[in-house]
Amino acid sequence: VVDKTELYAVKGMNDIGPFASEPFLHSAVWQHILGTAGTLLNQYGFAPVHLPVVEPTALFSRGIGAETDIVGKEMYTFTDRGDRSLSLRPEGTAGAVRAYLEHNLARTDPVQKWWYAGPMFRAERPQKGRYRQFYQIGAEVLGIADPSADAEMLSMLHHLCTALGLDGIAVRLNTLGDRESRQAYRGVLVEYLTARQGELCESCRGRIQTNPFRVLDCKRETCHAVAVNAPDILLSLTPASREHFDRVCALLGDLKVPYVRDPLLVRGLDYYTGTTFEFTTGLLGSQDAILGGGRYDELVELLGGPPTPAIGFAAGVERLALLIADKVAKTGPDLYLIPMPGAQSACLLLAGELRKIAPWRVEVDCSGGRVKHQMHRADRIRARSAIVIGSEELASGRGKLKNLKDSTDVPVELCGPAVHAALLDCLGS
Ligand code: AMP
Repeated sequence: VVDKTELYAVKGMNDIGPFASEPFLHSAVWQHILGTAGTLLNQYGFAPVHLPVVEPTALFSRGIGAETDIVGKEMYTFTDRGDRSLSLRPEGTAGAVRAYLEHNLARTDPVQKWWYAGPMFRAERPQKGRYRQFYQIGAEVLGIADPSADAEMLSMLHHLCTALGLDGIAVRLNTLGDRESRQAYRGVLVEYLTARQGELCESCRGRIQTNPFRVLDCKRETCHAVAVNAPDILLSLTPASREHFDRVCALLGDLKVPYVRDPLLVRGLDYYTGTTFEFTTGLLGSQDAILGGGRYDELVELLGGPPTPAIGFAAGVERLALLIADKVAKTGPDLYLIPMPGAQSACLLLAGELRKIAPWRVEVDCSGGRVKHQMHRADRIRARSAIVIGSEELASGRGKLKNLKDSTDVPVELCGPAVHAALLDCLGS
């Protein structure tokens, strides 16, 4: 006997589809988010890239940082049949930089603007808004150092939030400065934290030497109390880093992107330099970040390429879906065509004609059986209208377009242009 539950999906990994029991996993919601984001990214000049889900483990440990939670505790790592250590990607930037280098773009065509959408994997404790397989929509701008790239990315993300109808999103902005600024700040911060180490949690005490910046975003109250009084990194910035940050802020003012400066925003990946940002919501409990990103001006070099400035972001699709699930209509096809015996070909032809006239969603019932059952299916999949075509309709060339919302019907000539006009009348668009 097979225990079916043994074969069920791994904890923290979701099925997304029209069958979803939770609204945020419904395919209509995902289609809406991916469609809206894809259109927008295209408008801003980003080309889609599709990169491997599995990469050499060393890419992530070197790129993201061996001391980070992501690499140290959360990666799905395995040895393949060729005895190589591989990992499921926990994020998309390291792979993008790998591809940039592998295709020699730093030398041949250094300015690249890419976007991607796909699954990422982290072995975190699953909870609302936090999964082990989750999806990110992200983008990378490689080869541009100018602060206008930072400002445009933030403005685009603000635009995305508006396009998705998200309210109450806070844009948090910080800078981690260039290498020299960070080195100077590190000294100041280590001194400050060492003096107050008695008030820090055990992990943070350990981080003072390995990764002191991470103490600033520890969620524990006692650590947070220490962090809020820490010296501000702005005071340690080199003139060049300060000028870059000031310029980003001024441009955001010009572009009317509202933001708050958050001196505690350091992000969990080591590759960040300069501008960092996060968009947060008050509606998702502790998993409050819907997207994050920033500059990573040293990562290309760290992975073996020439010095190359870059900036990117990644947004969590599940978190966006949780926020908008109830607002997205989960309707089925605009028109459901039901052929009685002998009318299949007429229905298939009419459906084809309509799809060419306008982007109507038209489905032909190919399951056969009784009309009553076919009408039930139309209701179940939330079709918006239906036409039954039998021998009478075939003979007269006329039928009835039924509005499934209010159960009214109108007579209609069974040709593409006439049904198109009737649909416009009946459904709006
Ligand atoms: P990060 O790559 O950690 O900067 O995360 C960027 C965005 O991805 C976050 O703001 C979240 O929206 C999303 N995200 C990160 N980790 C998870 C996770 N385990 N489950 C769901 N979404 C996540």
